[in-house]
Amino acid sequence: MESGATMSDSGENQSDVENRSDRSDSLQYRCIVPPKIDPSGLDFLDMTGEYLLCLMHSQNIPEDASYGWSLRGGRMKSSLAIPPLTKDLAQVLIDADSIQRRVDELARQINQDYADCTGTLILVGVLKGSFIFTADLCRKLTVPHVVDFIALSSYGKTGDQQSANVRLLMDTRENMEDRHVLIIEDILDSGNTLDYLIRNFKTRRPASVKTAVLLDKPDRRVVPVHIDYVGFEIPDVWVVGYGLDYAERYRTLPYIAEMYPVK
Ligand code: 5GP
Ligand code: MG
Repeated sequence: MESGATMSDSGENQSDVENRSDRSDSLQYRCIVPPKIDPSGLDFLDMTGEYLLCLMHSQNIPEDASYGWSLRGGRMKSSLAIPPLTKDLAQVLIDADSIQRRVDELARQINQDYADCTGTLILVGVLKGSFIFTADLCRKLTVPHVVDFIALSSYGKTGDQQSANVRLLMDTRENMEDRHVLIIEDILDSGNTLDYLIRNFKTRRPASVKTAVLLDKPDRRVVPVHIDYVGFEIPDVWVVGYGLDYAERYRTLPYIAEMYPVK
């Protein structure tokens, strides 16, 4: 049996999983392996929540406590609402429920604001980071809309480094002339990306251009940008999850997590 895995009084296979001791107590957890899964060979300390959930889905194990899943201590409600953090992630900054509640509120506001607009609203999700936010938001809109995407890259971008040179990798398909456009972006940092996009779209003679951003890091702003809909203001830390990545990892976490600074 893998180190850390034990047998409980009831005979269940258990694996005690604790985060590194330098993390907050509230993030410590204990994970009971469902009876269907043989814990030998599984290293839970190296397993992210995504993999854990994939493993459960692949074995048709429902995401509830009925198979003996539980987490104890601190703010953790259940192992499934908050999958385990890996050694790279410092803390959950915004949990999945809070994100969904805020997306509901933003959608309600957008529905009100565009209620009297003629024509079909064009939602433009900025790939890749906003794909989950765009998917959740558009499904809560009652105003007529179409979904489009654009892909940009910051020239010279490596890992979490951003640069002022924004490059268009893939353009939208919709014709924007005389139409209302709502740009959907995952996070606003220096402002370079949105500033570029707003300027670019305005040359296409749309009826209007507005912006919805899930996360805003106001302390990092270099270029002032007007944002019409903001999900959450966050401090100057690198975040992942809910579409956001670090070197393509962590995009499918259901929450927003803060990473430890990369050395
Ligand atoms: P800006 O052009 O405003 O400096 O940067 C915007 C882009 O930088 C975002 O669309 C996102 O791709 C990336 N970015 C900025 N901060 C973060 C962060 O904390 N986490 C991740 N994953 N991406 C970020
Ligand atoms: Mg982005």
